[in-house]
Amino acid sequence: MAQLFDRIALIGIGLIGSSIAREIRDKQLSGHVTISTRSAETLKRAEALSLGDSYVLSPAEAVAGADLVIVSVPVGASAAVAQAIAPHLKAGAIVTDVGSTKGSVIAQMAPHLPETVHFIPGHPIAGTEYSGPDAGFIGLFKGRWCILTPLPGTDEAAKAQLRAFWESLGSNVEEMDPDHHDKVLAIVSHLPHIIAYNIVGTADDLETVTESEVIKYSASGFRDFTRLAASDPTMWRDVCLHNKDAILEMLARFSEDLAYLQRAIRWGDGEKLFDLFTRTRAIRRSIIQAGQDTDQADFGRHALDGKG
Ligand code: NAP
Repeated sequence: MAQLFDRIALIGIGLIGSSIAREIRDKQLSGHVTISTRSAETLKRAEALSLGDSYVLSPAEAVAGADLVIVSVPVGASAAVAQAIAPHLKAGAIVTDVGSTKGSVIAQMAPHLPETVHFIPGHPIAGTEYSGPDAGFIGLFKGRWCILTPLPGTDEAAKAQLRAFWESLGSNVEEMDPDHHDKVLAIVSHLPHIIAYNIVGTADDLETVTESEVIKYSASGFRDFTRLAASDPTMWRDVCLHNKDAILEMLARFSEDLAYLQRAIRWGDGEKLFDLFTRTRAIRRSIIQAGQDTDQADFGRHALDGKG
């Protein structure tokens, strides 16, 4: 594949950053990749995995001369990273991120970044419940959506270049208003994770059913929630804190609908239950038809399953 950028700087080299690094290396999308991460330990691991061409702890040093800067850290760390890299960015560089929330990332980063760079926030809708540089793999973004949330007036050529980058990783790219992104992701990603964390926590707190029973009989449904509930605690703490309004709005709707379901069960209203369960089954079929999952019986447990 053709080289898209002379120099790329990757700030953060966990699941997402290292998957991007592996793709760049595999497809030779850049002449030089500099990797920066917070800890010396992770940096050493990235080097051992040969994920880039040079390795530095300082994000400021990493971005010097880079044409594309990709920030892949927990969303709560966005302001500090933007502040650290801002004075060292090359004029004309594209600065993007992969954070799961967009309004908050823009509010944290935009005020620090110079007008000489193109800041184009992004979010690949792909991931797993694993973290760190060893967790990344080639193919993570293939057939998945990557949402860009550019600010008004963003340079069209820079947008096209970033779009081409994600497309070369196999993603389908869509543009969205940041607020809308945060609402959509609240229902498709953030709420399911919160529900999973909650149900697994509830099971853990039960006194009448033992932990060994929960684990022993987990294949009856519980197991599918535990995959989501095993996701990175730092990442998900930050998502909850940084998409607060949209999540609270969706949680309110969810609680209302749960009360409706509770009532139907209490009053033995089988018709209501049957209607809802029929409607929801059709959604699952649409997801499979859209190529966002397979109908294999091991749903949720195969390595290439995407979420985010
Ligand atoms: P990860 O595997 O846990 O890696 C996190 C990276 O950020 C590591 O390089 C880590 O450095 C660094 N980091 C952690 N805390 C930091 C801090 N306070 N300041 C600066 N750097 C810090 O995380 P990930 O899954 O790749 O997620 C990265 C971003 O992608 C998040 O914003 C997340 O919302 C988004 N995202 C995740 C998924 C998913 O499913 N995981 C999907 C789509 C988008 P050290 O290891 O050196 O400490």
